[in-house]
Amino acid sequence: MLLVALTLSLFGALGFAGPLFQQRDVSNTPSLEELRDKYPGIFWDEVFTNCNETQRDIIIESTRVAVNDLFPTFSNNRDRIESSGFNRFFIRPRERGIDLDWSRSVAFPEFSLIDRTFSNLVLHITQGGRDSAGRLKRAKQVKYTCREVNNAKRCGTGTAAQTHIPALDEGEGWATTFCPVFLDVYEYMLDVGNVPNRIVYDLPLLHVREHVILHELAHADVASGRNTYNHITDIKESLPGYTPNLTMYGATLSHKFAWLKSTDNPSSVNPAVGYNADNFAWVYTNEWFAQRYGWNDDGRTLSSQQSADELIPADDEFVDSDWSSRADEIENTVFPPAGNCLQLSDDPVDLYCTFMRGTEDDWLAEKDQPFVSYGGCDLS
Ligand SMILES: [Zn+2]
Repeated sequence: MLLVALTLSLFGALGFAGPLFQQRDVSNTPSLEELRDKYPGIFWDEVFTNCNETQRDIIIESTRVAVNDLFPTFSNNRDRIESSGFNRFFIRPRERGIDLDWSRSVAFPEFSLIDRTFSNLVLHITQGGRDSAGRLKRAKQVKYTCREVNNAKRCGTGTAAQTHIPALDEGEGWATTFCPVFLDVYEYMLDVGNVPNRIVYDLPLLHVREHVILHELAHADVASGRNTYNHITDIKESLPGYTPNLTMYGATLSHKFAWLKSTDNPSSVNPAVGYNADNFAWVYTNEWFAQRYGWNDDGRTLSSQQSADELIPADDEFVDSDWSSRADEIENTVFPPAGNCLQLSDDPVDLYCTFMRGTEDDWLAEKDQPFVSYGGCDLS
């Protein structure tokens, strides 16, 4: 982690210093046993049976780069919530001009849910997938496959990937199908990062596979730690100046979605971002490219001069066809703060959230004692 940051800052200081920023490693395809050992949060069997060799290597390499390069982008939760990426796609705490920020609004419990979700997502692939006895358990894994579950025929519509709830693939658990768009149109993050002198307004055009890996993980409750009622979906929203009822995909729309209430009186964060997969993924993609290219903007804007980001649909998500009724329910519910997060200082948003293996229901069922107090500090 440190080494990556150091390498990036060196490049930042010296400028673009060679033909290749980092080399991809596709020389050796790991065995199924090696993949199970390294990435237990993923059920790998089908990439050896339902994907061809090229597809298999792309999925494995994208996963490796996501784990090794994208996920360690932030050294801690504090860095994450204060980053320009978090500001762009969620609005950081105490941002100027925002009256009701995460710490000063009824949305605070949702902030802890967001923070905990990030912590879970970036650890699931390497830390998840096992039961309390440490055994690999399919129900706690996300299957990677090239086969469309139930012959859904959605890959042909231009979608990059699809994530399915267990009920759609009976007895199989969560599953992500990678489509030809992911394999043939999207690129490796390290290759995209090899092009010199990109500026922050290029961000909406940077379609990288590792971003899709993170986006799809967000849909799998077993990776996000969410449960049915707070499942992360792809929200449709009507934004000023845009066609009504667009899916909140892409950097431009995800940014505008987060800042939707910033001109209201009082101005506010938009708690719905905590339920939209692409907002989670863009925080990391934004930060990785920001470190790569030395961007130091404040994340308050993103040019809408480019609309090409809206031309590539990111994925299909097969869980939630009824976000609007759930949104009403969520708006009228006061959630308790996430039980596995500790407040580290007087600042309510200064949290440390432990990794939950599986969903919150799994975590509650497996832990021995209720997590209500820690060092005399009541967290419930
Ligand atoms: Zn999605």
